[in-house]
Amino acid sequence: MESTLKQLKLAYPGLSFKPAHQFCWSPENHEISYKRSATGDAAIWSLLHETGHALLDHSSYQADFQLVRLEVAAWDKAKAVAATIGVTIDENHIQDCLDTYRDWLYKRSICPTCRTKCLQQNDFVHYRCFNCHTTWRVTPSRFCRAYRSTKNIQQPATFHLAK
Ligand SMILES: [Zn+2]
Ligand SMILES: [Zn+2]
Repeated sequence: MESTLKQLKLAYPGLSFKPAHQFCWSPENHEISYKRSATGDAAIWSLLHETGHALLDHSSYQADFQLVRLEVAAWDKAKAVAATIGVTIDENHIQDCLDTYRDWLYKRSICPTCRTKCLQQNDFVHYRCFNCHTTWRVTPSRFCRAYRSTKNIQQPATFHLAK
């Protein structure tokens, strides 16, 4: 991953990369975080993926359903960048990541009271059940997810029932 990082820094001097605990694109800080201890192909692909978000200048505070589209776009960009430095990203890996993401988003949208799948409200942090009228709050969406495998899906962020 170190050599990929060097190549990316050279190719995109406008981007800032910061060692951290996880791979993440932070629109607020305009910063790509990368997991310093990560090794292997998946680490390189994650780094390229976050670079994709950065190059597309993805911002946060999107509705959940839009995030999946942005994730797909970030992977497409990552593939294009990868091609310029002689890296190929495994298509299965991309699909696994997108599935993990979709699962995570799906869990956020299930009513904690009656298990109906619901729509997010326009403020992007509340869902409201059209069946039983429960309202619940989710943490704002982030471009930071555990991309490892479907076995390690993070539980949805803590739900707070809103009054
Ligand atoms: Zn409900
Ligand atoms: Zn992403």
